[in-house]
Amino acid sequence: MPELYPIPVNEPLLNGNEKKYLTECIDTGWISSEGPFIKQFEEKFAFAAGRKYGIAVSNGSVALDAAVKALGIGPGDEVILPAFTIISCAAAIVRAGATPVVIDSDPSTWNMDPSLLKQAITSKTKAILVVHIYGLPVDMDPVLEIARQFGLKVIEDAAEMHGQTYKGKPCGSFGDISTFSFYPNKHITTGEGGMIVTDSEELAEKCRSLRNLCFIPEKRFYHEDLGWNFRMTNMQAALGLAQLERLPEFVERKRRMGTLYQDLLGGTEKVILPLPKTDYAENIYWVFGVILTGSAGMSAETAMRKLTEVKVGTRPFFYPMHLQPVFLKMGLFSGVKMPVAEKMAQKGFYLPSGLSLTEDQIRESAKRFLGILHECI
Ligand SMILES: *Cc1c(COP(=O)(O)O)cnc(C)c1O
Repeated sequence: MPELYPIPVNEPLLNGNEKKYLTECIDTGWISSEGPFIKQFEEKFAFAAGRKYGIAVSNGSVALDAAVKALGIGPGDEVILPAFTIISCAAAIVRAGATPVVIDSDPSTWNMDPSLLKQAITSKTKAILVVHIYGLPVDMDPVLEIARQFGLKVIEDAAEMHGQTYKGKPCGSFGDISTFSFYPNKHITTGEGGMIVTDSEELAEKCRSLRNLCFIPEKRFYHEDLGWNFRMTNMQAALGLAQLERLPEFVERKRRMGTLYQDLLGGTEKVILPLPKTDYAENIYWVFGVILTGSAGMSAETAMRKLTEVKVGTRPFFYPMHLQPVFLKMGLFSGVKMPVAEKMAQKGFYLPSGLSLTEDQIRESAKRFLGILHECI
């Protein structure tokens, strides 16, 4: 039997103008956050997301910290978010001194279920943190309607939604503040990086200030508020600009990859695949997730271990917020049960999904996965 070649879970695609723009940073000496690519990247990215203002930051997690802070969320406030998400979302709420309140996911879209929102609202609720998961957006209309009705702010975590739309409008255009990440497994990357976008000049100013230690332009080293150093470097923005030029192509590529996986894996009862589309969006497959059914007869952990043995890279699904030891130790979420999120965490993981994957690699990764599933009949 020929040696199996490894199929990495993610490799970015950096063969556009990345090198050219990066070289320009080095040749001109503009390597810090003061360089000219920052403003260009902010403007072009905000435009692509249908927003007036973009504030580039050092990653998608701190983008959430700044967003929560800029909205004035703090002690005594509650923020509703999905249980099934990355820790960054709940962490931003907890670090601001506010209380995270989780809701469960819709088993078909894997996103927060808007029909569960109303029952989670109390007199302390200040905001809804919407997180679009894995390639399909949250059904925004009911969320926005409830937010309007109850006077709640909306923070939109669009880290996984570059280039995606909801009913034809860009994801990232729905929150009072929306955030993105440019981690290397996102649709476009800056190595590490993030962006806050908004239409509010006031919120944009607050985020700019929070990003830059709350320096006051007229009075250097004098501070009325506490901020952070969340600045992005010109080198990161150089990468971001080059990547942004190719966003439509990247989205197309991911859709083709997702469709190929759907074709290859669609014939087995042993896995639930992502929804290819809903009536409001077509999946952009940030990652190609699968959820094992009962007939697969194994947990995600076992499947991932077997896939590692045949050199297929995988990552587990998110581990739900209400089961995180760090939050339980703080006395948060005691007794909370979220059956959908819990099952997804136990049975879900994702297959190689990076932009550099070739069609052959996808076919091979699906073949090895099916091989593992069938051994267990
Ligand atoms: C990746 C991601 C983040 C965090 O972004 P980093 O740049 O890695 O800090 C936040 N939210 C979601 C939904 C993400 O997928």
